[in-house]
Amino acid sequence: MTRPTERISLAEVARQTGTMLRRADSAHFKEQERPTLADLTESLFFSPGDGRIWLNDQRMLLWHSSAMGHLRRELIDTLGLERARGLLTRAGYVSGARDAQLVRERWPDSDIGNVFMAGTKLHALEGVVKVVPLRFEFDLDRGIYDGEFLWEHSSEDDEHIAAYGLGTEAACWGQVGYATGYVTTLFGQMVIFREVECRSMGANVCRVIGRHAAAWGDIAEDLRYLQARDFRSLPAAAPAAAAVAAPARRARKGEGQDRHEIVGASSAFNSACHQLDRVARTAATVLFTGESGVGKEAFARRLHRIGMRADKPFVAVNCAAIPETLIESELFGVERGAFTGASQSRAGRFERADGGTLFLDEIGTLSLVSQGKLLRALQEGEIERVGGTRTIKVDVRVVAATNVDLQAEVRAGRFREDLFYRLNVFPIHLPPLRERRDDVPLLMNHFLQLESRRHGRSPTGFTTRAVRAMLHYAFPGNIRELQNLIERGVISAEDGAAIDVVHMFRREQLSHESLLAIGAQGTLRPGEQAPAPLLELLQQHVGSGTPLPEIEQRLLREAVAAAGGNLSAAARRLGLSRAQLAYRLERGDTPPRRRGRRIGP
Ligand SMILES: [Zn+2]
Repeated sequence: MTRPTERISLAEVARQTGTMLRRADSAHFKEQERPTLADLTESLFFSPGDGRIWLNDQRMLLWHSSAMGHLRRELIDTLGLERARGLLTRAGYVSGARDAQLVRERWPDSDIGNVFMAGTKLHALEGVVKVVPLRFEFDLDRGIYDGEFLWEHSSEDDEHIAAYGLGTEAACWGQVGYATGYVTTLFGQMVIFREVECRSMGANVCRVIGRHAAAWGDIAEDLRYLQARDFRSLPAAAPAAAAVAAPARRARKGEGQDRHEIVGASSAFNSACHQLDRVARTAATVLFTGESGVGKEAFARRLHRIGMRADKPFVAVNCAAIPETLIESELFGVERGAFTGASQSRAGRFERADGGTLFLDEIGTLSLVSQGKLLRALQEGEIERVGGTRTIKVDVRVVAATNVDLQAEVRAGRFREDLFYRLNVFPIHLPPLRERRDDVPLLMNHFLQLESRRHGRSPTGFTTRAVRAMLHYAFPGNIRELQNLIERGVISAEDGAAIDVVHMFRREQLSHESLLAIGAQGTLRPGEQAPAPLLELLQQHVGSGTPLPEIEQRLLREAVAAAGGNLSAAARRLGLSRAQLAYRLERGDTPPRRRGRRIGP
């Protein structure tokens, strides 16, 4: 079997060329079925600096098994065994369904059997139970699934036995829920797991059997714990996704403008949305505050869409983008002959927004003179065109936005206090992206869809490394910057391949303090850093049939030639020291010798 060389990994390139790669673990594992345990552990990373643990793009928790045991006991004692069992089964189901989704999205090309097996690896990785598969077979087309597994070291049994001792009933409820949720979500048909032997019943290990619902016969009891009548009414698989879908769906009903959809599920985002929903159906003036790029216009559009003026125009003006000399005619319109160049009369934005919403972005940049005229328009509900004499009644809801502290501007004498109070009726602060980091994965997915559609490209998603870089990045330019990065990634990545770090970031954008990831020995180590440019150059050239050391030599010489023979400059460009470059060039002149394969931390 020939393996396409284009798919060669960075680790393999590093091994063949002897290039230093700071990623040390993936080469330790045999290329088993993907996703391998190494693939899955690579997706788990810790960001202790901001109190988060991620499994790819899912936020995870590390908490005490004994705390889980405590919660479990309280549930049983207060609600009774039946209801407690139901709750834990359903919570387990949600967890399994999330993991299935994760594996499906992250490894879309994996063989379905390997994806089934990934669930057993994840269940172990998450510290819940060690799964030993005894047998499993399935036929998706014929609706067959039949599997038998042993569960060793079940955490649920540890806690159950500690609290209640041995009994006559199986107790791994959450784990049964997980297996059911995982396989059912993957299979798209109901597959039910039952624990037929359990440590809580005195067995040495637990034994579970999973079968297609139709093969079990009576599944009323299983469904009762899942609180489901049938497959369709199973517990929601994706609580986070559901939270996002709601505002997104509502947005779509309106103008169908994807570009202005607001997406998020974090508490900071939800609190802004609640404020927005509260004020939308009133006539109040709203002032959005927040850094550049946090989505103030998108929020203003949504305010308009869900408000009472939705069928009337929404007109946006960026005050900073219009020269001071033109702002008045832009806002209020102009009569013919008012000034040189005004060859015909024209309505201003106020008139065009009549009956609807006028969004004034970067209001803090208006001059004091313009502020005075704006204030009069707001107070009187009427305007006068530049060079005109008649007053025109306008009915406009004004929504303003600023990225500066207007109160400080008032104190500094640069912003009229009366206008400030006129605008600041209902302020809504939009948090910067770094304060709603939980939304980064959702936004990544949202803009991936959007930009792929817009540019007619079809990247498969993001590499683990790219997800990591995004989760760690500070986003000084907020959502707009995130969207730009993804647009760049969508354009740069090959169709049918995943977007990687190099497709989105310039090298200097990346921080060198990394996240912590799980090393091959199961201990935390610094997460992988961006590979050296040389390594990336090499990776781009594999597949040509030329041995890698030869490609390396060619690249090195090209770089030196491009730098006019200046070794230091060429080395900088390649991400090497001058000495390393000199050594590598010299090595190319001598016959290749076997180098030890030392890959380790
Ligand atoms: Zn058990």
